[in-house]
Amino acid sequence: MPLQDVAARVRPALAGFEPYDPAFSPCEVNLSANENTHPLPAAVLRRFADACAATPLNRYPDPLANELRDELAAWHGVARESVMVGNGGDELLFNLIFSFGGPGRSLVVAPPCFEEYKNFAKMCETDVVEVWRDPQSLLPDTDALVDAAREAAIVMITSPNNPTGDLVDSALVRRLLDETDALVLLDEAYVEFAGAQASLVSWVAANPRLMVLRTLSKAFALAGLRCGYLIADPQVIDVLAAIRQIYSEDVLAQAVATQAVRLRAELAPIVADIVAERKELAERLARLPGAHVWPSQANFLLVRLPNAAVVRARLRDEHSVLVRDFSYAKGLADCLRVTVGTHAENNRLMAALAAVVEGGQA
Ligand code: PMP
Repeated sequence: MPLQDVAARVRPALAGFEPYDPAFSPCEVNLSANENTHPLPAAVLRRFADACAATPLNRYPDPLANELRDELAAWHGVARESVMVGNGGDELLFNLIFSFGGPGRSLVVAPPCFEEYKNFAKMCETDVVEVWRDPQSLLPDTDALVDAAREAAIVMITSPNNPTGDLVDSALVRRLLDETDALVLLDEAYVEFAGAQASLVSWVAANPRLMVLRTLSKAFALAGLRCGYLIADPQVIDVLAAIRQIYSEDVLAQAVATQAVRLRAELAPIVADIVAERKELAERLARLPGAHVWPSQANFLLVRLPNAAVVRARLRDEHSVLVRDFSYAKGLADCLRVTVGTHAENNRLMAALAAVVEGGQA
């Protein structure tokens, strides 16, 4: 039998893609993936366990997760028809580009930002227009974004942005809606850490081209559950409902997410603690020799440090503390992204950094 190059038969737009690498190594302190590392209250965990125990696994899920949708709709003061649930925000981002992008259409992004936007666009044969942020402030170039968006099918803006931490100026969203005809996806994966006033969900009702993405992976401490949701005009939701993998949100995820949204008041002290820890950690990081820390409204901090890649490797190998290396990324030379952990975890990080950076040889 001749050897067959089966891989060469892949659809051309998908050639060259590599499996996603979260750059994870087992470490005692993992501050690398912007997860919520605070333990949830025991009473909340018990409710999750009860909900799972009461959920039959032999039946297919409700495709649109209507009980959860209703809970989310009531929270955000919108109709069920304005909410779509997905297997993490990632699924919804992909499905949005799959639905509204495609050959001959473009997606505008403002890097450095969440890399998946670009990956999903390429998979969907959608052109990507990158409007780079200011190299120092790392804030978006408003005029250039509005200009680029005039020709675009979709603009994706992240607020707060990953990995830079800044909240979008609502005036930029206003301009994108008023001065362009693009669909505007506002990714609010981290918005709970920026305070109650930071979300623009309330704008959706009056702006049918605005779509707001949220997730239970961050503030809700449920990254492993895989549950995100979109708030958008019912016409957008109908399109997504028609093209989605029908059972992508499994019964256990629906059951736990429904409880989590109901019990969201229990999470407020955890979010408040992360916000307080963020301030303290930013101050401590900024005192390291040669460090620059960008202001952050999210549950992570971007820090520029001399020899960042070496620092990161030594934190991992010598101190079992994992942070995310962005030093290879365009515009982020010598940058690390540090998730804000518990007080004890942040202390471990700072002690390790002191040993690595101030002990020399980094
Ligand atoms: N948007 C941003 C900006 C993110 O950083 C992430 C996850 N890291 C997501 C969306 C997707 O999160 P999830 O799929 O866990 O909901």
